[in-house]
Amino acid sequence: MGALLITKRRELRERLDQLRSQGQQVGLVPTMGALHEGHLSLISRARRNCDVVVTTVFVNPTQFGPTEDFDAYPRQLESDYEKASSAGADMIFAPSVDEMYPESSATTVTVSGITSGLCGGSRPGHFDGVTTVVAKLFHVVGPAKAFFGKKDYQQLKVIEAMARDLFFPMQVVGCPTVREKDGLAMSSRNTYLSAAEREKALFLYRGLKAAREDYLKGERQCSRFIRRVEMSLNFPEIEVDYIELRDADDLSPFEETLNRPAVLAAAIKIGDTRLIDNVVLSEAAESPEEN
Ligand code: AMP
Repeated sequence: MGALLITKRRELRERLDQLRSQGQQVGLVPTMGALHEGHLSLISRARRNCDVVVTTVFVNPTQFGPTEDFDAYPRQLESDYEKASSAGADMIFAPSVDEMYPESSATTVTVSGITSGLCGGSRPGHFDGVTTVVAKLFHVVGPAKAFFGKKDYQQLKVIEAMARDLFFPMQVVGCPTVREKDGLAMSSRNTYLSAAEREKALFLYRGLKAAREDYLKGERQCSRFIRRVEMSLNFPEIEVDYIELRDADDLSPFEETLNRPAVLAAAIKIGDTRLIDNVVLSEAAESPEEN
């Protein structure tokens, strides 16, 4: 049976209130649609961990900058519906912009500290948009667990901080990055890439993977990891936005020596397409795929 497609907050809340009153635990997977295997892995995980699975498909205008790709962002609700249903979603919430941001909306949720630098540095206001919409979704859905990908590592940490600080009575679950066979992290934005750009995009992961191999061989000097990724991205078609090493937990920067688990994160632009990826450098993470 297919999932229920719901566009109104009120209907979603009423249905979920009823299920919660029967003791069912709700799992939430927020997305902006154009679903791929990365998204579907989150839905499958929610299916395994929760009684009721809600996926949201909403291209959130407040997290896009004025020169970013809000209008061009792929919208394909019909195929998203099919994919999310097959992966195990019970309800797909696809609200309009007005439904999420009624005209009277005057509230923004801001997380400080952890939002500075990395994507927060190059996309001012981005995380305010993310935390505002995710807080709204948490209130409407009331999940016991919400599932987010480690591909957007800073986003995951920001949402963990928001859920903690605003006392949302729920668990934020971080899930591994799903990659194409050749290693490119799956992303809805990969569809923007031409074949030639797609080839270059792979060097982002190659650089991160090489840095991780250095780490496993015992390298601990921070600048060496950065240099390794820089070298692998040294093509005229690739514009490097940032390459940074941060504490894997609180995203604090390092001095020169890597002395605790770290995330090595990078963002690049190829043509008009912005891509991000990361690997965790710690004894525990066996391979980049298991980050
Ligand atoms: P998006 O639709 O890009 O906003 O992503 C929705 C959710 O899917 C976020 O929690 C992302 O981190 C997650 N996600 C996106 N791409 C991947 C991927 N390749 N592997 C795992 N999770 C992903």
